Amino acid sequence: MRYLELIEKTVLERPDAEAVRVSTGAHLTYGELWASSEALALAIARRVEPGSSVLVYGNKDPLMVAGFLACMKAGCPYVPVDCFSVPAERVASIARQIAGGCSAPLVLAVEEFPHVDDMPPVEVLTHEDLCRIVGAGFREGSRRSGWILGEDIAYILFTSGSTGDPKGVEVTAACFDNFCAWDVELSRRGGEAPCGVDGAAPADVWVDQAPFSFDLSVFELAGALATGGTLFSLAHETQQSMASQMEALAASGATVWVSTPSFAGMCLASAEFAQDLMPALRLFLFCGETLPNAVAARLLERFGRARVVNTYGPTESTVAVSAVDVTPRMAASREPLPVGTPRRGTRLRIVDAEGRDCAAGVFGEVVIEGDTVARGYYHRPDLTAAAFGAAELGGAPVRSYRTGDEGCLDGEGMLHFRGRLDLQVKLNGFRIELGEIEEHIRRLPDVAAVAVVAEQRDGRVAHLVAHVVPAGPLAQTPFRAGLALKEQLRRTLPHYMIPKKIAFCEALPLTGNGKVDRRALVGVQAKA
Ligand code: AMP
Repeated sequence: MRYLELIEKTVLERPDAEAVRVSTGAHLTYGELWASSEALALAIARRVEPGSSVLVYGNKDPLMVAGFLACMKAGCPYVPVDCFSVPAERVASIARQIAGGCSAPLVLAVEEFPHVDDMPPVEVLTHEDLCRIVGAGFREGSRRSGWILGEDIAYILFTSGSTGDPKGVEVTAACFDNFCAWDVELSRRGGEAPCGVDGAAPADVWVDQAPFSFDLSVFELAGALATGGTLFSLAHETQQSMASQMEALAASGATVWVSTPSFAGMCLASAEFAQDLMPALRLFLFCGETLPNAVAARLLERFGRARVVNTYGPTESTVAVSAVDVTPRMAASREPLPVGTPRRGTRLRIVDAEGRDCAAGVFGEVVIEGDTVARGYYHRPDLTAAAFGAAELGGAPVRSYRTGDEGCLDGEGMLHFRGRLDLQVKLNGFRIELGEIEEHIRRLPDVAAVAVVAEQRDGRVAHLVAHVVPAGPLAQTPFRAGLALKEQLRRTLPHYMIPKKIAFCEALPLTGNGKVDRRALVGVQAKA
């Protein structure tokens, strides 16, 4: 795999260069990262067959990164699960899906693995085990022939599923390598990376904020290590207060920033968040949700030496497939901001309801064709067939993916994003299928019907409201019943999927054809 080879190059040339540093202090050099991943790869290979999915559980820790590389070297797809954003029952749901593929999935538990009743049998290597394996070192290197390659699955990312269970996107080694090449190119466009101390090697420091269970984190994971730079991870605890975050960023030496626009928007609330805080910062990379003009404009104002790049793409096409440099003029004059022209290896099409290509300037569904389109959804041939297909690009066969996004291409081939054609929303950068929340509420006792709607403010989703029809009279006040319902939901859904408000009603409004009239529910004052 090209990605591993690029890392190995730095291991050989500059083994003492810092590969991973966490805001809490933990760090690994390239030499240490490589050795750790070799030892872990052998431990994995002794326990499971190549091709078996391995769940890597934890938050921001160098061992997580070593675990990912180890899986790639052992020929096993890794399934990153963040211990803070994924509740135990959801971890069990993911483990059950993986267990469907092999008998007892292996778990690299960098943090303590949760135990719940419906967790399937798993083989857990605890933090202690992992440290012991890494500490014992390795006598023989992992066999290069065992490294993942081409159509092998590199990782599986579980994202919100409208049926009630998260669905796993299978990203191949080829997708990863192809994305990685573009990521590196994108980061170098408009100026080389700064030079290392020896004046030779590029030494970018990439800020890593998104949990590893979100594909945004692949942006910096791929970019940092493929270029011999440093992955600087903001640990969950650091992200709990603005002061500790600013302190960590000030000490980071960051040169490349990757986050959702929401996170950067939050940082802008601190007056400190400016070029003086990170003097070497030269590039902001955004993806995952609309980049508000005001956020882009303020960043360009406060960081005089940095480019702001808006990128677009779903997990199903490996992080991002288009990009555009946002200039101060663009930020002042084009609202909403465009989301970019496609990378080499990707074709973007806009199709109407019948699948016919739309003319320039006409809105339709965005279809992505190219060499970073994922293989499909793990063990879900039905969902895969509905969204993925075959296409041809430059004479080579590629996959296509129907995004469910509404957009248009202008005369210059620039993509403009207008919203979703279905019930998927983005709240603070988190991808949420409203249908998944509804399914979890419907499973609760005493619920007859439910509709969850997204309330907007300033053109963005501000919060979610669940309109619930109880199966009988409420046993307590609506306020208390709402709190109890949220409490039950917290056991199975991540925090960002819990509706802010629960509104109890006698019936849901219906449209002429008998469907729930969601538009009529938007803006209805809810009681929490
Ligand atoms: P995820 O799989 O979590 O990356 O979410 C993918 C979805 O996020 C896309 O299908 C879009 O709906 C949305 N998205 C991604 N990038 C952008 C962007 N630059 N602007 C607006 N929406 C975006």
